[in-house]
Amino acid sequence: MNAYMASVVEQVKKRNAGEPEFIQTVEEVFHSIEKVVEAHPEYEKAGLLERMVEPERAISFRVTWVDDAGKVNVNRGFRVQFNSAIGPYKGGLRLHPSVNLGIIKFLGFEQIFKNSLTGLPIGGGKGGSDFDPKGKSDREVMAFCQSFMTELHKYIGADTDVPAGDIGTGAREIGYMYGQYKRLTGLYEGVLTGKGLTYGGSLARTEATGYGLLYLTAEMLKCNGKDIAGKTIAVSGAGNVAIYAIQKAQQLGGKPVTCSDSTGWIYDPEGIDVALLKEVKEVRRARLTEYAAARPGAQYHQCAAGSNVWTVKCDIALPCATQNELNLEDAKALVANGCFAVAEGANMPTTMEATEYFQANGVLFCPGKASNAGGVATSALEMSQNSERLSWTFEEVDSKLQGIMVNIFHSLDDAAKKYGMEGNYVAGANIAGFLKVAEAMTAQGIV
Ligand code: NDP
Repeated sequence: MNAYMASVVEQVKKRNAGEPEFIQTVEEVFHSIEKVVEAHPEYEKAGLLERMVEPERAISFRVTWVDDAGKVNVNRGFRVQFNSAIGPYKGGLRLHPSVNLGIIKFLGFEQIFKNSLTGLPIGGGKGGSDFDPKGKSDREVMAFCQSFMTELHKYIGADTDVPAGDIGTGAREIGYMYGQYKRLTGLYEGVLTGKGLTYGGSLARTEATGYGLLYLTAEMLKCNGKDIAGKTIAVSGAGNVAIYAIQKAQQLGGKPVTCSDSTGWIYDPEGIDVALLKEVKEVRRARLTEYAAARPGAQYHQCAAGSNVWTVKCDIALPCATQNELNLEDAKALVANGCFAVAEGANMPTTMEATEYFQANGVLFCPGKASNAGGVATSALEMSQNSERLSWTFEEVDSKLQGIMVNIFHSLDDAAKKYGMEGNYVAGANIAGFLKVAEAMTAQGIV
């Protein structure tokens, strides 16, 4: 890394000690854009990288709510408004016990480049809380969401910052938050995306991240003389992204044989039964043991070191659960088993060492900021529909999504070729995403 970039990384490490995921993502992005930064010496004088790694605003707040036993609970809420150079801040809200400021900053930083790649006018932001919706009653979840929004509403708006769902934040949580926003502000505006269809949501938003992942994967394979049809696919996760990735993979003729949650994983050699998976996860909100109990041919395994979905023989791997869930050992197992393509549904699920191993072994590898951008892209389409006060059909949204994902693949493929790194889609995604933001920041002066 050149001296300017190395000094910025040093500063990031010093200023953000204790935030390993954030440091990891900054290093990963910088690793890819070195040639671009060298071609633009004016960036250094303008302090462009120093500005880019510092959020425009990071808000941390107390969220107080009362549980069903009458006990007062205190959680910590966050919203990081990272970069608004190309549009209003946009990015999801994660509700998970592991959430802290560093996690939200890592996700917010990734979001800047992802949103840029969509070609739509959306800046980067992210938020959430260390609240765990798992095991809570609907009333407890509502109490939390209302309290969370009571503080958050001061900082968001349809033209300033538009949050969406993420881990732990699905249709139910978005509904409670939207209701509270409306009650507090009196505004019926598109301040959140992922809304229900009866109050401003977009058709195909629920499916968008998983479907988009498969549209991009299909294009990546096509451009490399391959096809999804007939391929065995390992998927991790059993949430929004994983479920609709599995569904679209089946529609394209592939055979997903695995899924997982935070306690265990399923190997179903006949192919995952999506209707059953939806029933267990979306309706019953239950564990995957219930999937195995209802499906005699499926095997259930507990998650443990060396026991995960990546040990299953497959052609394509789609990590769709969470960050750093696919490490070097997993990558070695996948390559040894003949896996030839990996596309990330989750954000940063593959460690840097595993990514490098895939690339060194000729595996087609697409990073999440490109391959899972279908969710935020469709969120931006939801914003457009809200502004127009119109609703588009499923087919209209789905075909726009497909076009966006194909374009994303070509923009990163072209960027990689232009900078002499053909086939390196990680570099291509970072370069293409970065250039647009850098240009907009430069045009807008030192702010
Ligand atoms: P969900 O909450 O719907 O599902 C997450 C799934 O991953 C669950 O099955 C969950 O299991 C599992 N999981 C979560 N944490 C862990 C962990 N530490 N170890 C193992 N499994 C875990 O989230 P989404 O599907 O929405 O999000 C999945 C990923 O995709 C995240 O990285 C998210 O940031 C990313 N993403 C999501 C988008 C969206 O539109 N939803 C858009 C772009 C990216 P369990 O049920 O046990 O918690």
